[in-house]
Amino acid sequence: MALDEFSLIQRYFSGHDAGEGVLLGIGDDAALLQLPADESLVVTTDMLVAGRHFSESTAPFDIGWKSLAVNLSDLAAMGATPRWVTLALSLPSVDESWLAAFADGFFALARSADVALVGGDTTRGPLTISVTAMGSVPVGKALRRVGARAGDGIYVSGVPGEAALALQQVLTGLVCAPVLRARLDRPVPRVELGQALRGIASAALDVSDGLAQDLGHVLKRSGVGAELYLEALPQSADLARLADKERWALQLGGGDDYELCFTVPAEREAQVAALSDHLLLSRIGQVTEGSGIRYFHEGRSVVLDISGFNHFP
Ligand code: ADP
Ligand code: MG
Repeated sequence: MALDEFSLIQRYFSGHDAGEGVLLGIGDDAALLQLPADESLVVTTDMLVAGRHFSESTAPFDIGWKSLAVNLSDLAAMGATPRWVTLALSLPSVDESWLAAFADGFFALARSADVALVGGDTTRGPLTISVTAMGSVPVGKALRRVGARAGDGIYVSGVPGEAALALQQVLTGLVCAPVLRARLDRPVPRVELGQALRGIASAALDVSDGLAQDLGHVLKRSGVGAELYLEALPQSADLARLADKERWALQLGGGDDYELCFTVPAEREAQVAALSDHLLLSRIGQVTEGSGIRYFHEGRSVVLDISGFNHFP
């Protein structure tokens, strides 16, 4: 017999709600959560829709992982410490092997990020996963999109463009190497980096819809422009096989990176080097007066027309 709604929640999603500040977890009408007095609550929601954010070929483990990862990435971009999450699931049917693998992926990341699942909702409908993530940051210490100033260095973590390359290979039916495919399906939210950037970065955001478009949000909110140095974009073996223009298009315009892009005032740039022990951090440009992004390759101006991802273009 198929599982009913309540046994489904019980079997796959309860029992992971112990954690710091959880006064009451799953099972009542709402959870009760307690923050230390000197911390602000940081809240974000991201939704994953089948056919739009992931394809039929995506493993349920990866869907579970990624639905949490994209939310923790937003908390990371604020410099927050992740604490609690809720999970709203719309399922076309009860497929226990799918649910078990989805839950495995979700909780694999939840455990490693030390977040507790404290509630949610489960309904029948088209496959959609909506996660709300809650974290905390000392009052006044959150990283914002506002705050970049002319002269600040512009940095990006990891290697942007690999997820977009993986997606391109999947969509065109090419064989995608597992390591590259993981860059698309199993992004690692840059949680430690975000927290380490408190007091160092002047502005930050996570890169999900293309580096150029997302950096553009920081520039606009901060009332500044930027120059980007294309030779400074970090490379990987897979990306290095592409022609420059094709690679730049993926690295600047491709989505799903879930890396952090941040700006740092000159007097604090030395502190960034100390953070790059475990994670590649590249200085890809500099904030300028004015607006928009100007591109340079080895000192020469390059005209690029990069557009990021937009659900309602
Ligand atoms: P209500 O009818 O009050 O919304 P529900 O019957 O939907 O409550 O949910 C019962 C409990 O199970 C609540 O504590 C809710 O937060 C939790 N819950 C429901 N779905 C999920 C889920 N997918 N993951 C985690 N907790 C869930
Ligand atoms: Mg409900």
